[in-house]
Amino acid sequence: KVALDNVYKAYGDNVVLDDVSLHVAEGEVVAIIGPSGAGKSTFLRCTNLLEQPDSGVIRIGTHTIDSSQKHTSRELEELRRTAGMVFQSFNLFPHLTALENVSLAQRRALGRSKSEADERSRALIDRVGLSDKYDSHPARLSGGQQQRVAIARALAMDPEVMLFDEPTSALDPEVGLEVLAVMQELAEEGMTMMVVTHEMEFARSVGDRLVVMADGGIIEEGEPNRALDP
Ligand code: ATP
Ligand code: MG
Repeated sequence: KVALDNVYKAYGDNVVLDDVSLHVAEGEVVAIIGPSGAGKSTFLRCTNLLEQPDSGVIRIGTHTIDSSQKHTSRELEELRRTAGMVFQSFNLFPHLTALENVSLAQRRALGRSKSEADERSRALIDRVGLSDKYDSHPARLSGGQQQRVAIARALAMDPEVMLFDEPTSALDPEVGLEVLAVMQELAEEGMTMMVVTHEMEFARSVGDRLVVMADGGIIEEGEPNRALDP
């Protein structure tokens, strides 16, 4: 479903991703761990082309981008849209309500009407357990609630894969658990997911595969239950 092949990325002479390849099957949950600076965030950002790799081939569903070839911005946009991304910082628009935050990109990028987008947004906000918060602004929501809105916003684009970059590390542990519970539900519903996390318990219980990155490469991977020393 998702295939990254020979991805290479350098900033100046700092090689951040050195020939990284990873294939993720439909419905698979891959947990990615590794020390700070390993290249985990850059790898996720290259997966949805927030960052352009210097070389490498990225395939999500039926969309393929070969970084060594010229692609139109429309082709890049289309691939980007197939990957929903959730960051450590929630990046919600502070002046918009939860509902408006989830609806905005659907209207702008997918051209959905307001009523269509709002209906979908309500269903997704319900799904992340916030049906009483449609009209709340982010400042009135806890960190965990904001992160769940951010998840709903990413899901609203009907992504083929969800990318999570340490989605709970800015949260208090008990609030983080609400977010992890939503992610676990998504996984159980069959969502394909790549999750950068320090939550080893989550990686073990929800992850189908654990990938360990260090120094711009994948140094080990396997079943999360097998003892791997991170
Ligand atoms: P952390 O666990 O701290 O989030 P990480 O594994 O996500 O680390 P990255 O954020 O991918 O690591 O960074 C990998 C390397 O790339 C680091 O050396 C970092 O300094 C460098 N880097 C990342 N983004 C940029 C950028 N936009 N410009 C220059 N260097 C960058
Ligand atoms: Mg990171």
